[in-house]
Amino acid sequence: MTIDRMEKYLEVMITMIEKQSERINLQDLECIVCGAKNVKLWRYFNHTLNQQVLYCFKCGCKLTNTKPTPTEDGKAMYSGVVAHWYKEPGTESFCAFIPEQFTPPEGSEIKQEKEQTDTIGFLIPAIPTEKNNVFWSYSSIKEEDRILWQNLPFFEA
Ligand SMILES: [Zn+2]
Repeated sequence: MTIDRMEKYLEVMITMIEKQSERINLQDLECIVCGAKNVKLWRYFNHTLNQQVLYCFKCGCKLTNTKPTPTEDGKAMYSGVVAHWYKEPGTESFCAFIPEQFTPPEGSEIKQEKEQTDTIGFLIPAIPTEKNNVFWSYSSIKEEDRILWQNLPFFEA
C-alpha cells in the first residue's frame, strides 16, 4: 500500500462522511492494495468507518488466504465446500452434510451442491447505506443495494 493510495482512500472516506445526504457510488470506492475500481469490494466485518479499508477479490483472497471462485453468473462465489444431499431412509426428509466435517448419514446420496458465499474469509461485501455514512452490516444489507454490488465485476475490465 502506497502513501498516495492511502491518501486517495482517506479522501474518498472523508467525502463519504461529508456528503451524507448524497449517494456515493460504489464505483467511487477502490481497493486499498491495488487500487482496483468499479469492482466488487469487501471490508472487515467489525471495523468502524474511520478504520475501514476495502479489498478487491484478488487482494481479499490473498489477505485472508482463501480461494473462493466466482460463480458462472459473476454474482457470488463458490466457497470450495461441496454439500452432499442425502435422503433419509423411511422419511421424506433430505439432509445435507459436508464430508470433511461429518460422517455420512444413512440413506442414499441424491445430489451434490457447491456452497455459495459472498464473503472472503472474514471479509464481507462493502456496500454503503443510503446515507453513505456507514456500510450495511452483513445481516441487514438492503436487497436493491446488494443487487447493485452483485452486478459489479470481480476484476477490472
Ligand atoms: Zn486489490
